Amino acid sequence: MAHTAMAAVLRTVADPMCVEQITVADPGVGEVLVRTAVTGICGTDVHFADGRIPYPTPTVLGHEAAGTVELVGPGVTDISAGQRVIVCDQTFCGRCGNCLSGQMVYCTDPTTKQRQRQRLRIDDRHCRQYLGVSALADLMLVDAHNLVPIPDALPFEAAALLSCCLTTGLAAVFNIARPTPGGRVAVFGCGGVGLGAIQAARIAGAAQIIAVDPQPHRRALAAAIGATHAIDPTSDDPVAAVLAATGGAGVEAAVEAVGSPDTVAHAVAVLAPDGHATILGMSPAGADITLPARLLRQGRTITGTVMGSVRTRADIPRYADLALRGLLRTQELITSRRPLAEVNDAFADTRAHRGVRALITF
Ligand SMILES: [Zn+2]
Ligand SMILES: [Zn+2]
Repeated sequence: MAHTAMAAVLRTVADPMCVEQITVADPGVGEVLVRTAVTGICGTDVHFADGRIPYPTPTVLGHEAAGTVELVGPGVTDISAGQRVIVCDQTFCGRCGNCLSGQMVYCTDPTTKQRQRQRLRIDDRHCRQYLGVSALADLMLVDAHNLVPIPDALPFEAAALLSCCLTTGLAAVFNIARPTPGGRVAVFGCGGVGLGAIQAARIAGAAQIIAVDPQPHRRALAAAIGATHAIDPTSDDPVAAVLAATGGAGVEAAVEAVGSPDTVAHAVAVLAPDGHATILGMSPAGADITLPARLLRQGRTITGTVMGSVRTRADIPRYADLALRGLLRTQELITSRRPLAEVNDAFADTRAHRGVRALITF
């Protein structure tokens, strides 16, 4: 039996979304139906809504969510109805070489990420499920592997932020950048991802954490949750300012969370010899990155990654524990809470970089 849900439907790219009734299929083998509690609006959603990343329509956006399991399909043994879960857009087969080596964000099984094709319908025709989640709806049908169970004490709002933005920044630092205690870290971009990276650098014991962002409110928040320096790239040359803050030495780790070829180049240019740049932002399709060749001497390295190479069920429970112990700040990132009917206002805030995270609460 199919289920009806209320969803913010994007029928035409760059048009406002309309809240409409859609049909969600019954959970099949390995699938789980989740009742949505909170969905965060991520910058990636805005890129898709505005057509900067082409995508088929009609679709339902949203990929940063938490909720409660409603129904499980055949073969699902590790998740049960009533369980509180984080819903990630990363699913995996658990059998391919990349999955078996802990790189499930690079799962190569083609069936894993295509199974969602026929999950949603509108007007009796197919509605494309977005990133295997479509979280701007009060019901989500996902792979069981998309889910991470959470403790009862973790609020849904914090859980939603751990679905995408905070986790991406935390995993990038803990899994890839790995700053040494007492080290120096620079973070370019202080949205949800960058603020996750800044907090991870603080938790890892970095002595200097240099935040770079053009928005004054984001620099202030960065400083409040762990940055030791905050640089405005519109008033100072960001590379010169970061180098000056380190006495000319440069940083051992830089994290780029903007998604522009310029900030990628800046992240490499501020590295000390043997330093490492981790690139998280999605540069526009077709963009090229230009670097001075001299920077690639002296052991500097650069890594691009999806979601900080997070291993969702291994890493996210530890991040939830950091949040419960107050080491990872979440509430400060939340700018607004709105019902689904005001989804276009939430997107407008995100588009304009007002605050950090706009939430849709169900
Ligand atoms: Zn996201
Ligand atoms: Zn796999």
